[in-house]
Amino acid sequence: MAIGLEDVRTKKPTPAVDVPSVVVAAEVPPAERRLDLPAAVQPLRISWEYAIPLTLVHVLSLLAFVPWLFSWTGLVAAIVTHFVFGVLGITVGYHRLLTHQGFTCPKWLEHTLAIFGIFTLQDSPARWVAIHRLHHKESDHQPDPHSPLAGFLWGHMGWLYVSSRDHQNIYCFERYARDLLRDPFYFRLEKNLAWFMIYIAHALAFAAVGAVIGWCSGGTALEAGRMALSMLVWGVFVRTVLGLHHTWAVNSASHIWGYRNYETSDNSRNNWIVSLLAHGEGWHNNHHADQRSAAHGHHWWEFDISWWVIRGLEAVGLAKNVVRPKAWKT
Ligand SMILES: [Zn+2]
Ligand SMILES: [Zn+2]
Repeated sequence: MAIGLEDVRTKKPTPAVDVPSVVVAAEVPPAERRLDLPAAVQPLRISWEYAIPLTLVHVLSLLAFVPWLFSWTGLVAAIVTHFVFGVLGITVGYHRLLTHQGFTCPKWLEHTLAIFGIFTLQDSPARWVAIHRLHHKESDHQPDPHSPLAGFLWGHMGWLYVSSRDHQNIYCFERYARDLLRDPFYFRLEKNLAWFMIYIAHALAFAAVGAVIGWCSGGTALEAGRMALSMLVWGVFVRTVLGLHHTWAVNSASHIWGYRNYETSDNSRNNWIVSLLAHGEGWHNNHHADQRSAAHGHHWWEFDISWWVIRGLEAVGLAKNVVRPKAWKT
């Protein structure tokens, strides 16, 4: 899925292109803006390296409707790993630590969080960070990679299905993820789709655990096979799809619906539904206004479970230099 650094290195930088007919002006309120698709995606070409696995995991998740493949073990695995990989991997790891450096922690923990993030199929750490930093730099202006002001479906997931020159050249990494790629750990994950192989390996591990559980509880090869598939369908496919849509909702819904505590230049919103689904990430207007803060809820009632996980890590001495909001709201 992610293009390798060696491949990227050989590409030329994105040629300068005229800003398309974007209705962006200082006097146009963010909510009234409409954007064209980024120039770097024209002419539209399907990004097969993303389209195939993302479509496949959605189709495979539909196996959850086969009653024979349901198991309470699989359901519990889905719920637990949705929380562990979603919070520790994405919101705490990829987002607040790697992208925004909202706190520091030992390297072994940082790398563990990054591996948890990989288990969600939300791209490699360096690529996730680079694209998200680009989003913050150009949010709801060109060339924001996924502004819903160019269409809800585009901002939600359409952008992943289309090749973008902005995302496929070395300059994207150099400009937005150089700090990460200096670490050989992240550099190696980019080579030969290593990160994607780790996702595949983790899926196989789920199946193996399911097979052992099935064998121990049922004592037959059929039950072992059923439980292996149940763990795959529920613990991996269903959980992956839910996690993807919850993160994507931050990019789409939280840039359209909700209230604003801060008059940022983008259309970011605080959306409590997205916050519940995406572990506190729905307080997105707060986040755009104060990007480095490890806390996204600024009012006491803006519940942000990822913040409390970071506070927990801080309490046991694993998180340091935790960045608080510039000003808590009362
Ligand atoms: Zn961010
Ligand atoms: Zn945003």
